[in-house]
Amino acid sequence: MSAAYDAPGHERSPIAAALIEWHARHGRHDLPWQRDRTPYRVWVSEIMLQQTQVATVIPYFERFMERFPDVRALADAPVDDVLHLWTGLGYYARARNLHRAAVRIRDEFGGEFPRRFEDVASLPGIGRSTAGAILALSRGERFPILDGNVKRVLSRYFAVEGNAAEPAVARRLWELAERCTPQRQVDVYTQAIMDLGATVCIRRRPACALCPLIEGCVARQTGRQHELPAPRAARQRPLRRVYMLLARKSDGAVLLERRPDRGVWGGLWCLPQFDTAAEAQAFAHRSFQGVTGTFRELPAIEHAFTHFDLHITPLIVECAGSAGVMDDARCLWYKPREPVRIGLPAPIKSLLEALDGPMPLERGTGGTNGAKP
Ligand code: SF4
Repeated sequence: MSAAYDAPGHERSPIAAALIEWHARHGRHDLPWQRDRTPYRVWVSEIMLQQTQVATVIPYFERFMERFPDVRALADAPVDDVLHLWTGLGYYARARNLHRAAVRIRDEFGGEFPRRFEDVASLPGIGRSTAGAILALSRGERFPILDGNVKRVLSRYFAVEGNAAEPAVARRLWELAERCTPQRQVDVYTQAIMDLGATVCIRRRPACALCPLIEGCVARQTGRQHELPAPRAARQRPLRRVYMLLARKSDGAVLLERRPDRGVWGGLWCLPQFDTAAEAQAFAHRSFQGVTGTFRELPAIEHAFTHFDLHITPLIVECAGSAGVMDDARCLWYKPREPVRIGLPAPIKSLLEALDGPMPLERGTGGTNGAKP
């Protein structure tokens, strides 16, 4: 192990040299955010990559940079533009936090990405690991990171028992991450350990024969690669059933509501949602003119969130427009054929696009009096 990655007075990293050498030949070097590595570009890429695979992120990242080339462009944009570009990427709180953080950087840091770790970590949506990654990758500053890939590599290499969701395990992993982060070439090391976790030390069937850490890896030596890291204790996923009202005018426009900023699909535009068909129908009679026809059920949509599954029954009804005053800021008539730039949850976007084609199998609910309980 070369001492070139260490500095006097600091403990030597047990894995940095091997990873840095491996990265020169086998790491990823051509990802869009690796060009022109500004804190802003690294930040956006790290947020997009938090829950999403690299291949999916690339086109989103490129469109995002084209539309918002710097922090100010992002801060000055309406949040709807940001959510619109995020449509399909999921976990929309990430997009809202990016926008909020950009506004803070513009207003509190003069539009310059903050330099101090504490300031970076205080921004919405940026935790300790992401702050470390931004500063290490864009400025070569020595901060450890502990994203999912790094947790897996360290858990296996050092045979750390337990799951990182447990505070004691997380503390142990942070200590190891700190110990392993070298004094020099921090940017290369950081990219290398992330790449190793993404391409070699993968969750199922890690490619140990190709791994530069094979010599010292305890999981490999003891044949425990598949047991480590220990999975999080399984929790039962609740199923939530809702109805969504598709109130459609003769010109094809459909009423959408903006969801509250907090909660799932926060800030996105969505069909009005109800617990029962009866509530949806009562709302339609109260809120729209000319509701005389049948309420028809469209095929249900299943959507999985992190903590629960959502079962949506779309309920379509024809109407002649709003009755009385609606809160304009939170409602709009959306024409699928002339879409405006707003953020839509992916399943709702697909449903609205399908309205343009042949209608999927519909089922009547027995007219306006046929409400389901
Ligand atoms: S030897 Fe295998 S288990 Fe150990 S770090 Fe490398 S890929 Fe992961």
